[in-house]
Amino acid sequence: MQGQLGTVAVTIHRIPKKEYCGVVVLSRLADGSWAGKCSKCGADFQMDQDARFEGQVRAMRN
Ligand SMILES: [Zn+2]
Repeated sequence: MQGQLGTVAVTIHRIPKKEYCGVVVLSRLADGSWAGKCSKCGADFQMDQDARFEGQVRAMRN
């Protein structure tokens, strides 16, 4: 089974002092970390495996 591969999560790129930048679509990688790009400024995002973040993802999917 492909299981968790291909899972997508959405987060928000926040810039200190400017607050909101854009929406980031993150894809789950095979090692459990996340990677994506800000849709507005194109900044690269990488997130290690993070139980708290995963909890948020799960909450969003419910
Ligand atoms: Zn951005």
